[in-house]
Amino acid sequence: MTMTLDEAIKHAEEVAEEQESNAHMHKDMMVFKQNIKHNIAAKLQEESMNECIECAEEHRQLAEWLKELKRLKEQQPCEDCISRPAVDKLSKELVHTTRDKADFLCHFWEGLQKLPPVTPQQKIGKWIINKEYNGYETKITDCKCSICGEEALLTKSYSMDGQSIVLCPSNYCPNCNAKMEK
Ligand SMILES: [Zn+2]
Repeated sequence: MTMTLDEAIKHAEEVAEEQESNAHMHKDMMVFKQNIKHNIAAKLQEESMNECIECAEEHRQLAEWLKELKRLKEQQPCEDCISRPAVDKLSKELVHTTRDKADFLCHFWEGLQKLPPVTPQQKIGKWIINKEYNGYETKITDCKCSICGEEALLTKSYSMDGQSIVLCPSNYCPNCNAKMEK
């Protein structure tokens, strides 16, 4: 199983918390052993405590980097991008309001400069799966993209027990390239 970015952030933070609480435990034990003058044992507890602190700090740092990566992936501004529907709308409007080709091009060029930049977004869809029970097994009858309505690419693989073949839809749409939610 691969982790999502959110799961990886959560995991790194959980490890950091666990190691911080382990460090506290080792510290308490260290103080206790210092009090009873068991110096060698106290020294070992101190070493364990330092190891836990180091591990916790590394995982905190890792979580911070992953959060930054998530932020960058989510909001990468792109000044060069404009919206296809906006360009379409502009050209359709100008067809009716301009005198000739030269006038159209002139206004079209001006209009393009004024369109606001957009941030490209990954399309996220899901498979709409229809199943049918034919008396002894359930079969997928069709599997369509929730965004464009096209059929999924289905690949055959064996079920967990290795007894039957199951059909798995691809994790992206081959038609509109949307990423599919699990
Ligand atoms: Zn699609």
